[in-house]
Amino acid sequence: MSNETIQAVRGMNDILPDEAELWLWFEEVVRDWMHSYGYRNIRMPLVEPTALFKRAIGEVTDIVEKEMYSFADSLNGDELTLRPEGTASCVRAVLQHNLLYNAPQRLYYSGQMFRHERPQKGRYRQFHQFGVEALGFAGPDIDAEQILMCARLWHKLGLRDVSLQLNTLGDAESRHRHRAKLISYFEQHKDALDADATRRLHSNPLRILDSKNPAMQGLIDAAPKLMDELEDAALQHFAAVQEILKQHDVAFEINPRLVRGLDYYNRTVFEWVTTRLGAQGTICAGGRYDGLVEQIGGKPVPAIGFAMGVERLLALLQEDGMALPKPLVDVYVVHQGDLASRVASQVAERLRDDNLRVLLHCGGGSFKSQMKRADASGASVAVVIGDDEAQAGEVSVKPMQGGEQIRVMVKDITGAVNQLIK
Ligand code: ATP
Ligand code: MG
Repeated sequence: MSNETIQAVRGMNDILPDEAELWLWFEEVVRDWMHSYGYRNIRMPLVEPTALFKRAIGEVTDIVEKEMYSFADSLNGDELTLRPEGTASCVRAVLQHNLLYNAPQRLYYSGQMFRHERPQKGRYRQFHQFGVEALGFAGPDIDAEQILMCARLWHKLGLRDVSLQLNTLGDAESRHRHRAKLISYFEQHKDALDADATRRLHSNPLRILDSKNPAMQGLIDAAPKLMDELEDAALQHFAAVQEILKQHDVAFEINPRLVRGLDYYNRTVFEWVTTRLGAQGTICAGGRYDGLVEQIGGKPVPAIGFAMGVERLLALLQEDGMALPKPLVDVYVVHQGDLASRVASQVAERLRDDNLRVLLHCGGGSFKSQMKRADASGASVAVVIGDDEAQAGEVSVKPMQGGEQIRVMVKDITGAVNQLIK
């Protein structure tokens, strides 16, 4: 047997206690914020049938082509995938349980997503998202609501330097026309296409616009614009979203190159970006996906959603020097001797009954070494119990910041501790 140490999978991170404090705080802020807009929590499995993502995200996307953790269940051969994103699962769950039966739904979820990417700052193989989906809403009001929601969260978090990019992808027919024009345009410039673009020319030419290859930028800039193909209904929808944003003083930039990585989007798409995280600058991205529910097997239902990358958001907060006070215990209980140990454990439980946070010393040792632990724990008060105290039905209470140690009856312990904490 090898005794080499086993390391975590590359690109899948441990979140250690000091950092987990920030996560807990963040998750609480986000939950309160979701609820302040009436969004309700939904929890889907981490594993779904591979077919779900192929159908929802599209076969010719980065995610489905090369980023999914897919495997055959060795017990029954089912084709399964660790979820790379939440929208497909959420829509599947909504359909499966008929949640849209009599009312639209505002939903949110959070948790791990898995993509087999090259790990780097802000890009991991297991990462976390908070996702928001509103299903059953057709108008521009909900698009604006989701964007305003984000703006409020950035404000709450005190995030600086995030800006909003907005675009519309129009509807199916205009995209069709645009697609045909794109294909013939890029066919005329075949020699200038890189390998990715050549491969996508006939399967997903829109994605060529998304290319980050500097050598392709001139060609892309001169490509036919979707904006020139849009129908009135889509243009009006887009104008109405912008109008509401202006009413709320939310600044945005229209970016015609914003096409998003996934097939299912139509009309409004948006990204919140920062210049402070290098190439991984998108902290939140979303858009309308009116065709997806039908694509997954339901009746057509208009919908819109977005997802934010928790690691990237927290990296921004940390860059801003965000520091949280360590949560401390109120009381550290030190004890020595058999009877004292029994009393100590009862005293600790009694203090917890009274809503105090208590560390009971475990593992023995001298009073002196126990007091060192008490000091390091950050507790405000030490409760000290020797056999002497235990036999008298008493305990000693000592303020850690200095001050007199006093002895009190066990039954009076909470009052004595509270007096020292206040
Ligand atoms: P990118 O262009 O950076 O690859 P994407 O378009 O693949 O992003 P989405 O599928 O829209 O990303 O996911 C929404 C958000 O989740 C992103 O804006 C980002 O903040 C975060 N995210 C996506 N992939 C990763 C990853 N591999 N590691 C960490 N965060 C990620
Ligand atoms: Mg990606």
